Amino acid sequence: MYNINEIFETIQGEGHFTGKPSIFIRLQGCPVGCSWCDTKHSWFVNEENRIPFKELVNENSILNSWGQASESEILNFLAKKFNARHIVITGGEPCIYDLTSLTESLESQGYFCQIETSGTFEVKASSKSWVTLSPKINMKGKLKLNHKALSRANEIKHPIGTHKDIANLKNILASNLLKQQPKIYLQPISQKERATKLCVQECIKNNWNLSIQVHKYINID
Ligand code: SF4
Repeated sequence: MYNINEIFETIQGEGHFTGKPSIFIRLQGCPVGCSWCDTKHSWFVNEENRIPFKELVNENSILNSWGQASESEILNFLAKKFNARHIVITGGEPCIYDLTSLTESLESQGYFCQIETSGTFEVKASSKSWVTLSPKINMKGKLKLNHKALSRANEIKHPIGTHKDIANLKNILASNLLKQQPKIYLQPISQKERATKLCVQECIKNNWNLSIQVHKYINID
């Protein structure tokens, strides 16, 4: 069973798959504690906020409500309701769950799976899943980057506020923890002007890519 905060269809607004019609499965629960998190409602699995899955997906439920669903309930719901074939499994922190069976079942139905993770937990998913790792270092939850998660990253989408974040990214790239050459995206934190300018400069200097959270500029979820 998976604890789900929401499932919705939209356009992927970040990173390598920007512009791709996507079904987002947001799992409930995250112990990382980023101060600038824009989905704080997905942090806690409080019993008092639990509602039936059917209500969760049919309604205008409040943000921090969540519901439990089995793999087959998720697959049936997706098949009935959406067109996109690209699935983004996000959170919360989706890698607090073992996603192997879910991703394999989705792939057997013709979906492509992308997992968005903070990199603080090992990624347990099908070998074909695309892993977007957004390193969250020195956050309130005091979790460290998980070496196995780093070795699994297809894409590193680093949130950038200051030069310190650029230095952190360079440390990761200089480590021998990356088993493949991930695509590198810099993402300005909270669309701040200074952070955006820094990202542009560093992308040009290092031949990296810019991720600007397109969905926030065109006002979609
Ligand atoms: S890892 Fe993601 S969901 Fe968790 S606190 Fe950080 S930004 Fe929010």
